[in-house]
Amino acid sequence: MNHIAVIGSGTMGNGIAHVFAQYGFRVSLIDISEEALKKALATIEKNLNRQVEKGTIAAETKQQALANIQTFTSLKEGIGQADLVVEAATENVDLKLKIFKEMDEVAKASAILATNTSSISITKIASVTKRPQQVIGMHFMNPVPVMKLVEVIRGYATSDETTKATMELSKKLEKIPVEVNDYPGFVANRILMPMINEAIYSLYEGVAGVHEIDTVMKLGMAHPMGPLQLADFIGLDVCLSILRVLHDGFGNPKYAPCPLLVNMVQAGHKGVKSGNGFYQYKAGSKDLVVASRFNK
Ligand code: NAD
Repeated sequence: MNHIAVIGSGTMGNGIAHVFAQYGFRVSLIDISEEALKKALATIEKNLNRQVEKGTIAAETKQQALANIQTFTSLKEGIGQADLVVEAATENVDLKLKIFKEMDEVAKASAILATNTSSISITKIASVTKRPQQVIGMHFMNPVPVMKLVEVIRGYATSDETTKATMELSKKLEKIPVEVNDYPGFVANRILMPMINEAIYSLYEGVAGVHEIDTVMKLGMAHPMGPLQLADFIGLDVCLSILRVLHDGFGNPKYAPCPLLVNMVQAGHKGVKSGNGFYQYKAGSKDLVVASRFNK
């Protein structure tokens, strides 16, 4: 495997393209938006510069990585003869089904089709292709160049060969792959999202304030970030949609999203990306300031 196509150049797509290019793969980065592609290249360059400054990569590695990336707005041209396609487009079932149908038509017969989805069923995505044995979840964590884990999710029909190839490829990126089966939320979000939801319920029911809840989890459980800050970082809309997948998938009321989370998303308070969530964010400031409505 040496040619990788990445579909979607947002937060995750640019990080995925970055690591493959850094480890010497030829990368085609595809997005429907020229603007998103430009922004992605600028982000990749900025992040590679940071690695050079820290001494974790050589300046030549940075140049080589940038030279390894080509951008495309056409799926067909971008995928070309890729050995692996990693889809990291917006988290929307209908969109992913449409993209996978098209990927299946244009990718070479031996190509593995992977998705970076946080929660959508791999089995369902695979079912719209003629090669479900070659469809797999490759769930990178944010920020991709920093986080070591790749959750490798086997759909109902994913073959042993596809799983083995995906695990080996992840190791070539110096990541640690973990194989899991395809049930709602996989492992990462099945455990993380109920914890975040419970933290929001604790705030909603007045058990404690934002700062207090996050401090308990940071100092008491040695979490690097409290659950409310982490929810802001992931995106409150993303958290809500994953909780809905868990709730629908298991039919168990314990996954019902907290009404406060629903209200915040409806009001457009989505966390870091909208500038407000449990905390308020100002460009250029790293201070963690609790949003005024949650300030006692
Ligand atoms: P994002 O909104 O930052 O980026 C999505 C990109 O997809 C955008 O640039 C958009 O223009 C592009 N896109 C939309 N339709 C497209 C199409 N038809 N063809 C090509 N590109 C298209 O989203 P993100 O946060 O990078 O998430 C991408 C995927 O990764 C989602 O499935 C998400 O669940 C998953 N994920 C996200 C995180 C996270 O922390 N953000 C972590 C793990 C997994």
